[in-house]
Amino acid sequence: MKHEQPTNQITSVPILVVDDDAALRRLITRRLEKEGYQIIEAETGAEALRYLASTRRYVLLIDHRLPDVTGLDLVKEMHREGINPPFIMMTGQGDERLAVEVMKEGAEDYLLKDTELLDRLPHAVNRLFKNMTYQEKLHQTGTALRESESRFKTLFLESPVSMLIHDKDTGELIDANSAAYEKYGFNSMEELKENNFWMESPYDFTTAREWLRKTDQEGPQEFEWSIRQQSGQRRWLQMKLTPMMIDGVKRILAAGMDVTELKQSEENLRKTQKKLQEQNVHLEIEKQRAEAASEAKSQFLSNMSHELRTPLNGLMGMIQLLQTTTLTEEQAHYIELSLHSCKSLTNVVNEVLNYTSLEKKQQILVEEPFSPVTLLKEMITLHQTTAAHKGLTLHMYVSSQVPHQLVGDRFKLKQILGNLTGNGVKFTERGAVYLSMTTEETDDPQLLTVVCQVKDTGIGISPDKINYIFDRFSQADESNTRVHGGLGLGLSTAKELAELMGGTITVKSTPGTGSCFTFSCHMYLGNPTMASHIETQESKSFKPVPTANEKENTLRVLVVDDDFAGRNIAKFQLEKMSCQVDTVENGREAVHKTAENEYDLILMDIQMPVMDGMEATRAIRKREQVTGNRTSIVAMTAKVLPGDREECLSVGMDGYLAKPFEKRLLEEIVREYGLEKIS
Ligand code: ADP
Repeated sequence: MKHEQPTNQITSVPILVVDDDAALRRLITRRLEKEGYQIIEAETGAEALRYLASTRRYVLLIDHRLPDVTGLDLVKEMHREGINPPFIMMTGQGDERLAVEVMKEGAEDYLLKDTELLDRLPHAVNRLFKNMTYQEKLHQTGTALRESESRFKTLFLESPVSMLIHDKDTGELIDANSAAYEKYGFNSMEELKENNFWMESPYDFTTAREWLRKTDQEGPQEFEWSIRQQSGQRRWLQMKLTPMMIDGVKRILAAGMDVTELKQSEENLRKTQKKLQEQNVHLEIEKQRAEAASEAKSQFLSNMSHELRTPLNGLMGMIQLLQTTTLTEEQAHYIELSLHSCKSLTNVVNEVLNYTSLEKKQQILVEEPFSPVTLLKEMITLHQTTAAHKGLTLHMYVSSQVPHQLVGDRFKLKQILGNLTGNGVKFTERGAVYLSMTTEETDDPQLLTVVCQVKDTGIGISPDKINYIFDRFSQADESNTRVHGGLGLGLSTAKELAELMGGTITVKSTPGTGSCFTFSCHMYLGNPTMASHIETQESKSFKPVPTANEKENTLRVLVVDDDFAGRNIAKFQLEKMSCQVDTVENGREAVHKTAENEYDLILMDIQMPVMDGMEATRAIRKREQVTGNRTSIVAMTAKVLPGDREECLSVGMDGYLAKPFEKRLLEEIVREYGLEKIS
């Protein structure tokens, strides 16, 4: 039977059997080899000592009676030599004294060499090896313990984290590392102990003892703690309390990390955040105030421009009427100059209004079909007189790619082109202004990028000013302003409108040679079948104004306006166009008048007392549903904010004429709406 063996490492230690009885030695060897042990044989004590002199470890099985020495003397000799292998002694006769002596020398066992020796031997050897293993482990554990103790001590002493060891019950300070006593401002643990280093509640000794008790009962605890240094300065520690056995006694290790700076920066951060929040609130109030002020300013400008329109309309209308009377050449010249001033004033009023509505983000994009060629032609016509006056020529070029019809905000496109063309004419003394238009495809087959250029041979813009000219109220050369006038709003309006329509605006310019403005915007491809409709409309607009000899076909017009001048100017101008004109002062009168008489055209002011133009139009349209008649109604108004035109059309009006208007625009209205009647 094989006995349970101790660990391999130990059993690999050979057993040195020292016996002069060769036969017994053989038997012992065989028996133990069967158990898996490694055996080496020696006959004498001297031979045994030779084996032991090597560095190898041995377990000894010694016969007491050897030829050269007794087993006991061999052991003593070994011990003198400093060799202490585990051994078992075997003797021929049971001698108790010898047994005691052998055990005193450290024998693991003492065996009688009787008939049962070979049976008992494996047990004894096995026990010896087990014992060796145990001893080995004990030794190892002891070493590890010593090592860990020394590590803990090093850690405790050298750690930059302050560590204190307290009695778990009394709270007494048992030990402290240098980081701890230095943290408090002392030179030694003793100094720290002697001084009362506790602070007032909740960082006092009583609370500390409570934490120690909690740690003892519930395990490690973490919390923030405040201490006062000897200098009186307060510091903050992040504490961790851990129960542990130290020198066989249960203690509490209190480790503290200084977080004062961290806390201070947290506090600073909090204060800064608070300050920033306060500043933000302040800024928000300031912003709201500024917005309110800007809103009020925009509103004022908008109102002012609006209010200017009515008297301007009167002035311009009267001058235009005067133009139709018999005048001397000198008078005609003065009249022309007055009219020019009126137009300039109208431009200023328009610019201010555009600016305020852009600023109030009131712009709405309208989508309607129009002919790009016609639009450019209109542009040329509009600036023709001023250009001719300065001896400039105007040219237009529309690329073959541009479709007959585009769908988009025609008025805004016209406004950008108008501002750029106006500037071109204004800042050019000699040469020409060129307008061109082309289109580019986009990813959307229905959407086109319209690219327009306005090029002139004028004064140009200096490189240091060119980056600012699109800013509001900026003018490249203030001295020019005195010469050329202007508000510095035209380009910023053009830029905002181009961007509103998904495009951009750029400029290239050489002082003394000229400037070239390029802008783009998005427009939809029109319906090709609509092209003919537009052409018809265009050809319509070139029909002549009806003349007096077409009297029997006279156009009957009702002018509705509460402003005396506005009402009469429209009346006189229409009469000059051979129209038969009635006038009324408000919407209600218009509703009555149209019930009594039949009209071909109604020019309807919008803002009127008693009943406004919108309501009157609704009432007339409602009545027409019963009678089956339909009279053309065209708004004639100083209400020119974005969306006003659309609003007029939505209540059933057919057209829109902004005050103040040029005579030719009224003529166009008459041509357009009176056409059927006259032709
Ligand atoms: P303004 O009402 O003064 O014309 P704009 O915004 O239209 O305002 O133009 C800003 C400034 O840019 C002008 O005052 C002028 O100095 C410069 N500028 C604009 N267009 C031209 C141009 N075609 N040639 C030379 N300078 C120009």
